[in-house]
Amino acid sequence: MMRTNDGLPIQLTANAHEQLIAHCRSTLPNEGCGLLISTNLDTPTMIDTIHPIANAHPHPLSSFSFDPAGWISALYRLQRNNQQLVGYYHSHPRSLPIPSSSDSLGTMSQAGAITLIVSFSTSQPNMRAYWKPSDEWLPVALTIESSSDNQKAD
Ligand SMILES: [Zn+2]
Repeated sequence: MMRTNDGLPIQLTANAHEQLIAHCRSTLPNEGCGLLISTNLDTPTMIDTIHPIANAHPHPLSSFSFDPAGWISALYRLQRNNQQLVGYYHSHPRSLPIPSSSDSLGTMSQAGAITLIVSFSTSQPNMRAYWKPSDEWLPVALTIESSSDNQKAD
């Protein structure tokens, strides 16, 4: 279920991108957080689904931690629907999309998992992806589909 990404480039569908921005905007001024999911096992680097999880951190203005119950139910849902967890996202309401020291301590920074940060420090939200093979965050290439690429027949 948890895929080791190994720093491969990832893609975000237009729909997932929209949901991601909308969720992180809705939690302002606090940080928002959740899961990046691929429902298509043939293209496991394509994030097409966002699963928000409540931020249970006591200082949500500048930190995040997944609500434990929300985290567990999200994992069950992934398993039940045979979906792939690509990584995690959270927002930086006031700072750049660069991992903070508390992000580095976060229990969610599993080796190989993608961490995506959405920053609202500029007028247009700005996002960057990382992975952490050892002690250091490394950038991961991120492509966002334009909405015209995302027309589906269903
Ligand atoms: Zn952070």
